This record gives sequence, structure tokens and C-alpha cells, in this order.
Amino acid sequence: MLFLFSFFLFFLLPTGDINQTAVAVVAKPNNIYIERSDAGQHLNFDFIMKNQTDEKLLINKIELSVYDETGKLARREFYDEYGRNSLELAAVPKIEKQSATMFYNPFHTFAAGVPLKKLHYEFSFSSEDRKKYFKAEIDVAPVYYETKTDLILPVRGRILVWDGHDYNSHHRRFDYTQENFVKSGYKTNFQRYGYDFIIVDEQGLNYKGQSRVNDDWYQARPDKMEDYYSFGEPIYAAGAGRVAFVQDTKPDDRKFNPADLATDERAYAGNYIVIDHLNGEFSWFGHIKQGSLRVKVGQSVKQGETIAAIGAAGSSLFPHLHYDLRNGGGAKEVEGLPSYFTNFKRILGSRTVNVKRGQVDTGDIVDWQDSGKK
Ligand SMILES: [Zn+2]
Repeated sequence: MLFLFSFFLFFLLPTGDINQTAVAVVAKPNNIYIERSDAGQHLNFDFIMKNQTDEKLLINKIELSVYDETGKLARREFYDEYGRNSLELAAVPKIEKQSATMFYNPFHTFAAGVPLKKLHYEFSFSSEDRKKYFKAEIDVAPVYYETKTDLILPVRGRILVWDGHDYNSHHRRFDYTQENFVKSGYKTNFQRYGYDFIIVDEQGLNYKGQSRVNDDWYQARPDKMEDYYSFGEPIYAAGAGRVAFVQDTKPDDRKFNPADLATDERAYAGNYIVIDHLNGEFSWFGHIKQGSLRVKVGQSVKQGETIAAIGAAGSSLFPHLHYDLRNGGGAKEVEGLPSYFTNFKRILGSRTVNVKRGQVDTGDIVDWQDSGKK
């Protein structure tokens, strides 16, 4: 097998020349965390690939080798154009000349027992005519992040995690290398570990009388905010801390003007509350209802205190609460952090499971253990 592989490489590389400096790859953010769930271990980071050549390059292959603490190989997998071609690779198949591109790490979930001490990545690139080949290598050493703040779910009722921070979630796929974000000074993914919480009925629908005839649910949505179960429902402080930033004057019109970011880096949330947990962690509550603010900047809040109501201001398709934990109160040069919630229950059909402390993500249906709500 090894022989065949070498032969294959030789066949592809008649000159034997591989340029190692043409493409620079860096892993972002600087601190890469392991998040643990019932499904295993999750990594949430990206690569920025910088093509320093004067021609467009194809991304041919990405290979991951996982090593344990003794330096022994524990796992190897890859995506390429031949044996294991995939959406992950095809989504960003090429890098324009003299430019950088975001590449979302496609190796994101591992079984609980895999030792993730060192992750060695090898990237292979070629010119479009496949006459030149390039390589880049990078090592990543992720660490488990222990959330410092004791957190509870910030919404009560039958909550669906409409979009969380799994590999395909929109929060995770924030490409801040795009020109408009670079110009505005965004250098990180502040919403990397975000959640969009909505309140649903037993069928999982988020508004009354929802039609399933039209698959384009967004077009079929009601115009009245009040028809959404989430609209106006209380938002609770997920953890104790001090109120750092607030805004609640924007209408619940689901409109976001990127130009607003020039004066307020938090403007995409429309209305918001930021709680400083005074330990380097900040809780973010976005799209709160206009005029629903119950707290002031500088005020101390207790966990579970009602702080506002759910609305639909800013970059919001419909009423929902955007919540995330991050390492700063702003959005520029601020990164998301993994968060775990205490004392909630998972709704698994007719069965519910009480969770003392755990992770939630896209698709989960959860509630407070003592919600008192159906
Ligand atoms: Zn969100």
C-alpha cells in the first residue's frame, strides 16, 4: 500500500519538486478548544490559507494524522479529489492568486476515546494545469476548555436549538477574511459557539398555524410577530455577572444594515445585552425585543434573573434568542467559547432525561428541569 502510494505521488510529480513556502496555512483561533458532548469530542476552528503565488491554486488534498501524548499515531484520515472527494473540499476548491481564503476544518468530531494531543495536517495544492505542486503542514494542539461560569439555559419552555455551532451551522461559518469584514476590522469569529434558541410546540413548529405545504417556511411565515411562540417570552441571565452593554431601541423588524457596524460593532444583533461574568467570559443575548430591557449597564445580575424578552431586531430571520459565550464584550477581535449548561432536561420524544451539566447543539430539544411550562 505504501509502495503504491509513493508510486502514485511520483506519477503525479514528475519533477519531484514540491514548493513548501508558496501557501501559508494558519489555524484560527489561536486557542483551539475541545468541546465534549454525549456524541464525543468536537473541534471548532478554521484554517486561513494564503496563496502567495501568482496563479490560482487547486486544493488537492487535506490529511489529518492524530497523535497521542507518547507521539504514537492514533488516527489518520483525509479528503481529496479522488478517493474521498467531498462537499467539504469542493466547497472551497481553489484559492485565487495572492489571496487568502477561509477553509473550515472538516475533521471536527471524534469519539470520546481518541487522544487529541497533536493533530498534524498536511495540505496539498497544485496549479490549475497540474504542472506545479505545493505543500503546507501545520500542527494543532487542542485543549479541553473548562467553562468558568455556571450557566443555565437562558430561555424556558420547549426549546429547539434551531442552529447551534455544529460544523454546518451558520454561526461557525463566519468568513471574516471577506473584504467587507476585513475593512470593518473583524479578525475573529465572535459567534463561533453561538446558539439560536426558539420556543416550539410539540410538533416542533415555531409559530401558530404553521403550514407545512410550502417548504419555503421563511416565505410562508406569518407577518405578525405575536404569532411566533418565542416573541415576547422572557430571557433569563444564564449566569451571574455585571451588565456591560445594552441596546433595546431598535424595532423588531428583522432588518440589519451592515453600515450600522461602523458605529456599533454589536449592531448585527439589533438589540442586545452583554453580561460580564468577571472571569474573562461574557454572555451575549441578541435580538431582544424593543423596549424590553430590565437591566442597566453596571448593574449586577443573578443567575436566572429576567433581563429582557425575545424579539427580532437586527440580523434575525424571525423572533429568537441568539446566545453565546465569548471572551470579550464586543465582536471585533473577540472569540467564542464553549459553554455548558446545568440542570436542564433533554426531551427525547415521550422520554425526558435530566442533565446535571451538559452541552447542547443544533437540533436538540431541551427545557429547564422545573420549567412548569408545556
Ligand atoms: Zn444566532
